[in-house]
Amino acid sequence: MRVFCASVATETNTFSPLRTDFSDFQQSFYAPPGRHPETPTLCSAIFPALRNRAVSSEIELVEGTATWAEPGGLVSAGTWQRLKNEVLDQLKAALPLDAAIFGLHGAMIADGSVDCEGELLEAARQIVGRQCRIGASFDPHSHLSEKRVRNADVITVFKEFPHTDFVEAGETCVDLTLRTVRGEIRPETSVFDVRMIDVLPTSTQPMRGFIDRLRQLERSGQILSASIIHGFMAGDSPDLGAKVIVTTDGDRPKGDALARELGMELFGFRGRAAPDFLAPLDALKRADESNAPPVVIADVWDNPGGGVAGDSTILLQHVLDQNLKGVALGTIWDPMAVRLCFAAGEGAELDLRFGGKTSAHAGQPIDAKVKVTALVENAVQSFGASVVPLGNSAAIRIGDLDIVLNSNRSQAFSPDLFTNLGIDIGAKRILIVKSTNHFHGAFAPLAGEILYAAVDGPYPNDPRRTDYTRLKRALWPMVDNPHQEEFA
Ligand SMILES: [Zn+2]
Repeated sequence: MRVFCASVATETNTFSPLRTDFSDFQQSFYAPPGRHPETPTLCSAIFPALRNRAVSSEIELVEGTATWAEPGGLVSAGTWQRLKNEVLDQLKAALPLDAAIFGLHGAMIADGSVDCEGELLEAARQIVGRQCRIGASFDPHSHLSEKRVRNADVITVFKEFPHTDFVEAGETCVDLTLRTVRGEIRPETSVFDVRMIDVLPTSTQPMRGFIDRLRQLERSGQILSASIIHGFMAGDSPDLGAKVIVTTDGDRPKGDALARELGMELFGFRGRAAPDFLAPLDALKRADESNAPPVVIADVWDNPGGGVAGDSTILLQHVLDQNLKGVALGTIWDPMAVRLCFAAGEGAELDLRFGGKTSAHAGQPIDAKVKVTALVENAVQSFGASVVPLGNSAAIRIGDLDIVLNSNRSQAFSPDLFTNLGIDIGAKRILIVKSTNHFHGAFAPLAGEILYAAVDGPYPNDPRRTDYTRLKRALWPMVDNPHQEEFA
């Protein structure tokens, strides 16, 4: 059995002041054929899963490129053409094939291409023909188009948010696709359009129980798999919104009915699945008064993982204004300030301007006398089994306030983003991180309390106020009951 794999992934915030080009892919993760590391990245877990199958001689594996750019702004047309052609040329060279498996994110939008992954799967289908099986793995924060469903035999999606199960989802995609090639199963994909866009963390109810039930359904053998696309509210896509995917073994009517049933249940969660979002000053006050340190405050909308710069200073300015003690903040993306810190050297004190550079809505730059407490070249943090690059990074101190500045944009995944820069988080009362919910997995075990602060900034966080230009379907919360009304 001859199998090809490739991974092209990013998440495009079409409202972001940033733009994305090939250098962003190189900076985050770019592995030409054969150069994928042993550890998986978020969207390339199919690589190690397939290598295991190749080692046991079950398959002959032909690896293509695997690449990922930190979520950002619109991908340039040339970058998308380059990446698409690179992978499709590799696919052509790998023929004949029994299967082609793609590790995708599913929210990539390029200048002139609204549905990059749909384009890729459609072109791949034309190359490999109908007999070859195509598997695709997606992030739930993506836009599921009809084109993707039509051209893939198997679709899997991370069930958890935070995406702690990305390895499992990659393995399931590989497993179902290979079983299809062997004729053991005949997957049929049913999709239900939930017609809503919301924030759906699975670390709390009601999503926790819902996801547990999906797993139970899979284990019971009634279906091959069930997945939820949450949608990505910062992407101007015609396919914006939540969708339910049910894959049955050749039983489309059963899949359709179950997808609808699960979808309407999910619709019932609208407006109550997201955690309590606090105003910035309320979050800081509650953290300051807490007697369960450290309190972790997530700056949920200045999340580089959602495609914004991650250089907002709004919360930080409040911390300085209120002279709060025992605070650490990570990270603020500012390669220029990092460069100045490296030039000054560890232990140096200097007047530094940092943060607040890329958007008019992310606060003013901070001007302060800082002490450089640590400098790390090519710093990293961990995210489950994967290693996430932060680029050259500096820890700076103002009073007893510690701040991590990084050169590669990245959201906060793990406390080692602080400890790798020598910051003693055990001594801190408040840790401020930029992340919507991915931080939760690794920070929850050490946090006395977790608070979510909603700070208005460049991220389009209220769909009712966002100017979507491509949306033609009615969605909640723009419409109260989109299952009855038609978009005018
Ligand atoms: Zn995601």
